[in-house]
Amino acid sequence: MNETIRTYDDLERLVKKTYASPDIESLRHAFDLADKAHAGEVRLTGHPVISHPLAVSYRLAEMGLHLNVVIAGLLHDVVEDSDVTIEDLKNAFGEDVASLVESVTKLKHGIKYRGAERYAENMRKMFLAMASDVRVVFMKFADRLHNLETLYGQPKNKQERIARESLEIYAPIAGRLGMSEFKGELEDGAFAYLQPKEYERMKNIMDIKVREKGAYVSRIIDQVEKLLGTTSATDFQVHGRIKRLFSLFKKLRKYQGDLSKIYDLIAIRIIVSDVEECYMALGLLHQKWRPVPGRIKDYIAQPKPNGYQSLHTTVFTENGEIIEFQIRTLEMHELAEFGVAAHWRYKEGSRKAVKNTRWMEELAQIQKELQTKKDFMEQLEVMKIDVFKDRIFVFTPQGNVIDLPEGATPIDFAYAIHTEVGNKCTASRINEVMRNLDTPLQSGDIVEVVTDKNRRGPNPDWLKFAKTRHARTKIKDATKRTVKGWFAEVLKGREKAKK
Ligand code: MN
Repeated sequence: MNETIRTYDDLERLVKKTYASPDIESLRHAFDLADKAHAGEVRLTGHPVISHPLAVSYRLAEMGLHLNVVIAGLLHDVVEDSDVTIEDLKNAFGEDVASLVESVTKLKHGIKYRGAERYAENMRKMFLAMASDVRVVFMKFADRLHNLETLYGQPKNKQERIARESLEIYAPIAGRLGMSEFKGELEDGAFAYLQPKEYERMKNIMDIKVREKGAYVSRIIDQVEKLLGTTSATDFQVHGRIKRLFSLFKKLRKYQGDLSKIYDLIAIRIIVSDVEECYMALGLLHQKWRPVPGRIKDYIAQPKPNGYQSLHTTVFTENGEIIEFQIRTLEMHELAEFGVAAHWRYKEGSRKAVKNTRWMEELAQIQKELQTKKDFMEQLEVMKIDVFKDRIFVFTPQGNVIDLPEGATPIDFAYAIHTEVGNKCTASRINEVMRNLDTPLQSGDIVEVVTDKNRRGPNPDWLKFAKTRHARTKIKDATKRTVKGWFAEVLKGREKAKK
């Protein structure tokens, strides 16, 4: 990775370009304060320490996150490195900035374990931070990315540790939050240090491909632009995208190293104004070039579990060359690159409600549960079960997507729809066939729950197969209530008997 040095002027220019009437005075004040706090300090790379907060802050501004986050980025190491206190920051920049800096500082401190426990503790801290304010995690990612970019300055053992943490903790979390841009950068940054030979090999493959195909891809891009120019679409972009190195490495492993099976080394992205134009563009491509069978994917009608939406298709073009297209709206594009962060971006307005609310709720639930678990290994189990275990997605008869963990049953599905649907559930139909309530669901299943409004409540036996925390909690709650109710009746009966 190459380190790009950013100056304060670069940052100010970017902020003025990105934000409407930004508070430049506060931005400059934050820079001055950080510059003073880090004065005279030099990083292992040989650059002054201030280059680090500047890079972090620049990245956050590039993402278009609220200006407070950008300001907090400048200040994120100040409390640790100088006499400046959180209280001082509160007085100078307000509650929000101070609390962001405080959370990021906390995230860094008190990691005292090694090995698996260190991993668990790190993970737990990330989750706690995320559940309280997800913006802190964006700051942490920006911080970690710059540390990866400047890892060359660190001693070997530290390089390895930071790279491993990035790959095993930060990248999966970024992925789960749908932040593929961060995920990709974290993975590639870490990959370079963890498997330098493989990294170089992948880099060579891509370099050769880009050299070989560059002219061809630009020709195709020109043709697509012309094609779209003949339609009613006015606001579109067509550009090439190159596969990331770690992603290529994983895919090659999956195909036993057979490069010819990988069609998306270079893909072309078409970004249009709305969903209609997405399908129109797909139609145009298929009229011009024959699609490769089995490679048309409609992630607009059926989004991936993390919310990703796009149309994918692979076509045969001139001379039998094969190329993949990804078609999406600008909104989908931003969501694909920035994930949940897209919803925290400055240019709000028309943006729809956060799609990942279920995921955020789940986080809050995990956070609660973590507080009751003292042992890190136990905590790790809690996190692994719900978050990193593979997810499946199934459909309601109306076509809504429900995101569930692997092995989930119709009971989990019912509770995911609504607590009352779960409590009154008596049977289920999977793909229009009656099935037992403990049948494990598969991705793509259409699930329908039969309810009986006279049903008193859930069967405690459901706990034997319910997978999600949500369903289990609801079943326990409801059975507790029923038991209490039953107990009250017994007591009442006794009272009566006494009389
Ligand atoms: Mn930092």
